[in-house]
Amino acid sequence: MILWMVLLNYFNLLFLPLTNSKLLKMGKKLAYSAFGFILGMIIMAFVDFNINPLSNQLVNATMWYQQSDEMKAIYLQNFNWAKKIVEMEQIKNQNQWKLAVVVDIDETMLDNSPYEGMLVKTGTSFSPETWNKWVNLRQAKALPGAVDFTRFARNHGVEVFYISNRSVSQLEATIDNLKKEGFAFADKQHVLLRDKTSDKTERRKQVQQFYKVILYLGDNMGDFDQKYKVTAPEYDSTALHKDSQLFGTRYIVMPNPMYGAWERARMPKKPMTDREKAIFKIQSLIGF
Ligand SMILES: [Mg+2]
Repeated sequence: MILWMVLLNYFNLLFLPLTNSKLLKMGKKLAYSAFGFILGMIIMAFVDFNINPLSNQLVNATMWYQQSDEMKAIYLQNFNWAKKIVEMEQIKNQNQWKLAVVVDIDETMLDNSPYEGMLVKTGTSFSPETWNKWVNLRQAKALPGAVDFTRFARNHGVEVFYISNRSVSQLEATIDNLKKEGFAFADKQHVLLRDKTSDKTERRKQVQQFYKVILYLGDNMGDFDQKYKVTAPEYDSTALHKDSQLFGTRYIVMPNPMYGAWERARMPKKPMTDREKAIFKIQSLIGF
């Protein structure tokens, strides 16, 4: 609106008799201000162009994950509790079974929030190419309490299996990264990545064949049981509520407000632009 008013004034002045020097000066001033205004609008349009509404929705979640003590405390709390369970189960077992714990990797043991930070800063959304680039850097840091937990398990004769939906093509980089951070059992026998399917059931069975799995740790419901996977927008968490006793005893859930299957679960199953997704997410919120 203001832009139009400035432009109209500017063009009106062009048609005024140029003999009036006062008007000419005023016209020049207005011309300069209009030019500045238009330049400002162009710069703003460019900046706005770089803000992706979808990745921009990640700001608070990523800040919380990277900067809050609450996040660190939740990880420590979960790993402390997991240690108690390992201790109890080891005593109960009396060397009857080979014991194991199954853990997810991303946002359970390793912190990939710099990848999310990059998405916000560059105004982009997840792509296998940029994710692969990040994984190959091997720069993900261990989450609070994670390394200690794997060593604690090892010292108690409990093996740790990492079942992750990183691609099998990323096995070497993943093991390197885990080793660099000091995780126990960071080897090919204990790191089971995604080959054909993201459903972890078969990989869990491979471990269950030879071990009694006492505990599962993950940030996604699919890390515990495929039946928790939300398949329809009207899903009401029935499966989860039925198994309420398993949370904190067999399953330990890590916090991840940045991404997850939950994000796509209730979205329409059709191709959507980032802007459409961002709008849908806002519209899906309960307000008052
Ligand atoms: Mg994960």
